[in-house]
Amino acid sequence: MSKSTRLDPKENNPKNLPIYLHKAKLVQAVKDSPFLVITGETGSGKTTQLPKYLHQAGFCKDGKIGITQPRRVAAITVAQRVAHEMQCTLGREVGYQVRFDDCTSESTEVKYMTDGCLLREILADPILPQYSVVILDEVHERSLNTDILLGLLKKRFSNPAKAPKGRASPMKVVVMSATLETDKLSAFLGDCPVFAIPGRMFPVTSTFGFAVGPKDFESTGYMKEVVKVALDVHTSEMAGDILVFLTGQSEIERACDMLYEKAESIDYRYDVQDQTVEGLLILPLYGSMPTDQQRQIFQPPPPGIRKCVVATNIAATSLTIDGIKYIIDSGFVKQLNHNSRVGMDILEVVPISKSEAQQRAGRAGRTSAGKCFRIYNKEFWEKCMPEYTVPEIQRTSLTAVILTLKCLGVHDVIRFPYPDCPEERFILEALKQLYQFDAIDRRGRVTRLGELMVEFPLHPGLTRALLKAASLGCQDLLLPVAAMLSVENIFIRPGHPEKQKEADQQHKALAAKSGSMNDFATLLSVFQSCQSSDRPSEWCKDHWVHWRALKSAFSVETQLRDILLRLQQKRDFPEETFDGNKSELFRRCLCSGYFTNVARRSIGKVFCTMDGHGSMVHIHPASSLFDQEGELNWIIFHDVLVTSRMYVRTACPIRYEWVKDLLPKLHEVDVYELSSVAREEVTEEEMKKWESREAAKRPAEVSTEDI
Ligand code: ADP
Ligand code: MG
Repeated sequence: MSKSTRLDPKENNPKNLPIYLHKAKLVQAVKDSPFLVITGETGSGKTTQLPKYLHQAGFCKDGKIGITQPRRVAAITVAQRVAHEMQCTLGREVGYQVRFDDCTSESTEVKYMTDGCLLREILADPILPQYSVVILDEVHERSLNTDILLGLLKKRFSNPAKAPKGRASPMKVVVMSATLETDKLSAFLGDCPVFAIPGRMFPVTSTFGFAVGPKDFESTGYMKEVVKVALDVHTSEMAGDILVFLTGQSEIERACDMLYEKAESIDYRYDVQDQTVEGLLILPLYGSMPTDQQRQIFQPPPPGIRKCVVATNIAATSLTIDGIKYIIDSGFVKQLNHNSRVGMDILEVVPISKSEAQQRAGRAGRTSAGKCFRIYNKEFWEKCMPEYTVPEIQRTSLTAVILTLKCLGVHDVIRFPYPDCPEERFILEALKQLYQFDAIDRRGRVTRLGELMVEFPLHPGLTRALLKAASLGCQDLLLPVAAMLSVENIFIRPGHPEKQKEADQQHKALAAKSGSMNDFATLLSVFQSCQSSDRPSEWCKDHWVHWRALKSAFSVETQLRDILLRLQQKRDFPEETFDGNKSELFRRCLCSGYFTNVARRSIGKVFCTMDGHGSMVHIHPASSLFDQEGELNWIIFHDVLVTSRMYVRTACPIRYEWVKDLLPKLHEVDVYELSSVAREEVTEEEMKKWESREAAKRPAEVSTEDI
């Protein structure tokens, strides 16, 4: 191991963490049982220490230790920390892998990764021969992929008598959770042992505010209040750092701006060096932040300076920042929810649950007594905040996950061992969408296209458009678009009105340069212009484009291209021809993936979606289609933003003929009917009726296992 990095004796000693006292017993517990649940307060050292203990105890003899995290930032920062503690270079003995970013090597023995990555590895080899231990972390977060992994690992490894062949040693599965629901987890995993790490929490006094009540549900006025309370705490409370919970990147950046402006008018984004204003060190923390900035979060502030971290929910459990004594809780979180009005998943700002609020408050009491300032009032708490957060599996689209399960040979996706069953209609919705995309057939079996689709870590619609382009030999048009849609927003939106105007002008010019009013084409054009520029970072600066985001897009494009190449070499790939112009070819490829997102002009500038929901949507002002009059009758769009109105972003005009043959598929009900066979309450008579109708369509046998 490299000796270049040494732990600074002044910094946090991992031997002081509560978990350290239980090291030997923990290692033994993992040895003793194929499944183990570990619980302990956040910050007790589970994520950073347990993999290290197991590594020291020789668990890497027969394979790696894999640790999953629901959030990519957590996987990256924790891996950095552990590499530092183990005094090795990140990417060697300790590494991480998140979507589109693999920082591991042949010598990696402790691997932090997102739960989505492990799911992909299971897809490649269901018995995971490369691992000796798999640790599912942050299970209390109940992320969709972690829940699915729980079910899969249970199915595969819980019965030692039926241990899968091909492994060097039996698999050890450790499931770690902050506190809640450990009994339920243990019961789910065949009553496996539970190891509780005793932790000490200091009292935290929570107070309610006055500013936000049930009526302020949809306003963003709470931001101002958050800033005000933060400054109040800074001026009137004793020493100790502040942690503010807000919902997302733009909001956090605005709040940081406001904090600066209030304290002194400094536009820190143009002078990132000077983040200290009147004794307050203001630090944003959100998922897509560059990692070198994230590192600063964990460092103690200079003497006499108070640190104020303005974070998303990531600081609630995934990351622990030492020295926090004051919490300012906005009461909101950004959450991906399936919106039945629109028929797709939408990121929404919603009130947190009461249990989440308690978790947030608890972050102030790790090392001494703390205070939590809730900016909402008691009425908001009682009327707007649910008791618990609904698991992701019960509120988001299951399309990608169901395709993965099917590719893993789990045909009966309704009776899969989910820790909490999703509503059946969500499963049916997913099956229906997969059928619409031709990823599964009428019997629910994965098609050749479906097998190709599952290889891409993208939304199925985007994958389908990409595969269509590949079969037409024009993947160069779609690969950059898919990459650009997979990274954070590439267009800079400055807070300052003057600068915003300037940025808007530049963005309009970029759209005009692409030659058509088509947001997808703009993305392609930006990608290509920047790539072919001699000084790409300068180019980005001039055009108000995020250089960091574009750099990621370049890397993502290469990775998607590699996946495609591999598939083209491995399988016989469909080939088609097309003789029209390039713009039409491009848009037709998009149509084959986005025909589920078609809208037709209704009245004036209002469009009506054609997916059966008939939602009324508007074009977002940031779209190049916003100012267009005339010919705009049919459009496809990438996603929807819901505020007081429903806005479509990233859109492009199409011709009805291009989707005419695809649209009817949206209204076929076969999959719904088919699924009823898997439901127990279907009567004998209904079944017969269904069977005879189905038999008239095609004389094949239908197995209930297929769904
Ligand atoms: P748990 O998983 O039980 O919530 P962790 O293992 O994440 O606990 O955290 C244990 C300790 O490690 C905390 O005191 C935290 O401050 C410290 N720590 C974690 N990540 C970092 C980091 N990137 N830099 C500095 N300290 C860190
Ligand atoms: Mg943890």
